[in-house]
Amino acid sequence: ARPHRDLVYPNSMAHCHHMRNPPIRVMQWNILAQALGEGKDGFVRCPLDALKWQERKYLILEEILTYRPDIVCLQEVDHYYDTFQPIMASLGYQGSFMAKPWSPCLDVEQNNGPDGCALFYRRSRFSLQATAHLRLSAMMLPTNQVAIVQTLNCQATGQQLCVAVTHLKARSGWERLRSAQGADLLQSLRSITSGRGGTSQSQAMPGSIPLVVCGDFNAEPSEDVYRRFSSSPLGLNSAYKLLSSDGETEPAYTTWKIRPSGESCSTLDYIWYSHDALSVECLLDIPTEEQIGPDRLPSYHYPSDHLSLLCDIKFRDESYRLM
Ligand code: NDP
Ligand code: CA
Repeated sequence: ARPHRDLVYPNSMAHCHHMRNPPIRVMQWNILAQALGEGKDGFVRCPLDALKWQERKYLILEEILTYRPDIVCLQEVDHYYDTFQPIMASLGYQGSFMAKPWSPCLDVEQNNGPDGCALFYRRSRFSLQATAHLRLSAMMLPTNQVAIVQTLNCQATGQQLCVAVTHLKARSGWERLRSAQGADLLQSLRSITSGRGGTSQSQAMPGSIPLVVCGDFNAEPSEDVYRRFSSSPLGLNSAYKLLSSDGETEPAYTTWKIRPSGESCSTLDYIWYSHDALSVECLLDIPTEEQIGPDRLPSYHYPSDHLSLLCDIKFRDESYRLM
């Protein structure tokens, strides 16, 4: 069975349910590309049988459906058109996909196409205002990493929300590239959330669209790209810090795996949100070391080497609403 995870309400005073301002449930998850898991990653303690797509896809869908998020942000999706798009559509979601320009999946024999980022929103809740498919640049040069940014409109209240998903360059030695990719994404987000497009010099200001950014940043909190996001003029806070007792500390890990090179246990995944406009009501806790098990991830019990992150987010200010 999948590890049982509780929803934690960090600020016990805050969750008075207002029927006209229901929270927005957001999921962030690097689901592990099928081609990379079987062909490149070298998860030496994971049985090959646990990586079979015909079984693993149900565990991925079960994880998503257990929590029924309103917004689902995924990385390493290499089964969008044949699996996630049709199944999520039948469950009431609208999806968008952007492949990496040179996906490493394409190097794997019998691959299912390139991996990329996918963003789904619940159609009964939101309508789409705008979509941007971004190829991230670094020092003016195009890179192999991408992002999707969508501006959504809450059907019932007219609230606007901007949602972004990204997957930054992996591996140590690439810290400066990640930082530059983050800077490029922040610049695009400032332009999109300002509602004006085009110019890049604008500051976040009252009236700008509230923002949620989900990603596998491939960066520990000590990295430059993390500092860039936490100190940007967009006023972003990292939701999972709120699980800690001081509200300032990221979880100890969001991914935990064993490769031939050794064990890797690190915090790489984040949900950022505009803290002036939005508040986090609750978060899905992180499984314990015992729940994850001695062979770590992925496993028969959990289909990816990254944990899903999930939180309920509310608009702070009623003035974002039409009624
Ligand atoms: P990244 O370095 O960003 O990594 C790609 C994937 O590899 C990620 O999904 C990452 O997962 C995973 N990964 C991270 N660490 C390891 C590890 N130690 N062992 C195995 N997998 C790991 O790759 P790029 O996007 O920069 O793409 C590089 C690849 O793209 C090259 O290998 C090449 O195949 C291909 N390429 C081809 C070109 C061409 O001309 N044909 C040009 C450029 C690239 P996670 O995020 O979970 O850590
Ligand atoms: Ca990976």
